[in-house]
Amino acid sequence: MPLMPKFQKLDEELEQKVQEILADEQYRDHPMRELLEQLWSAVGWQLARLERITNISDRYQNAARERVSLLSQRYDRQIRLLERVLRISDRYQLMLKDLNVALHEASTHDLLTGIANRRLMSECCRQADERSLADGPTYSLVVLDADHFKLINDTYGHEFGDQMLVELAQKFKSSIRSNDLVARWGGEEFLGLFVDADLNVAEVIVQRLLAGVRSIALDHKGTEVGITASIGLAQHAPGETYADTFRRADEALLVAKRRGRDRYVIAP
Ligand code: GH3
Ligand code: MG
Ligand code: MG
Repeated sequence: MPLMPKFQKLDEELEQKVQEILADEQYRDHPMRELLEQLWSAVGWQLARLERITNISDRYQNAARERVSLLSQRYDRQIRLLERVLRISDRYQLMLKDLNVALHEASTHDLLTGIANRRLMSECCRQADERSLADGPTYSLVVLDADHFKLINDTYGHEFGDQMLVELAQKFKSSIRSNDLVARWGGEEFLGLFVDADLNVAEVIVQRLLAGVRSIALDHKGTEVGITASIGLAQHAPGETYADTFRRADEALLVAKRRGRDRYVIAP
């Protein structure tokens, strides 16, 4: 422990004085000399002890200071680490969210055309069935199949066929109302769910759709390639499931094919 300069000075003077007295021959037989000598050596011993203690205390304080600084460094490090973990966790959660959206999109949409897939359409049809059970609005199903699609593939190649399927999907999508749904049902076949639509409403949409398909002109090496489609149309009947309605629409589609294609037939 450092002494105040004033006391340090006093100590030095005192020490000098005591040393002088102890060394002075005239005090050799003085009765107080031995006592002073003993006292002085006791003070020396005490001082040495005090020094040892302060030394230990200094070392302890240094160590403690070091520990505190290490702790604060460690604390800072942990905080920085935690911030990084939180940032990573934020990014991770965003990635998970994106991944979830992508997974949901992939599981409910068709990879090639981007429209709904069979799974999503089936679920929506099931919901339409539930709504219609409680005397809800009726709906109509529209099955569209590309005419002579095999020939398109064979003539222009499979990749061109793919582009044509994308065109067809877009045409179907742009022909329906905002609440309706179109899905790729499989291959070159599409299914439309027209909600709250009886045959009168559905027929208008189907006519618009067929005209739209006829207007497709996809470029193939400078040549415009067109396409037609056949459609079967059925309105959901009370007590039916969507699978029943679909079967009737599909039968109507076969009739349209038999009758020469590029047309629609309404299921009885
Ligand atoms: P139809 O008028 O009687 O329907 O004749 P079609 O040739 O369209 O019918 P068919 O069932 O004989 O052939 C369907 C063709 O559609 C054969 C198949 O290779 C093709 N197709 C199915 N899915 C895809 C696809 O994802 N991409 C391409 N490019 N072609 C496909
Ligand atoms: Mg087909
Ligand atoms: Mg076909």
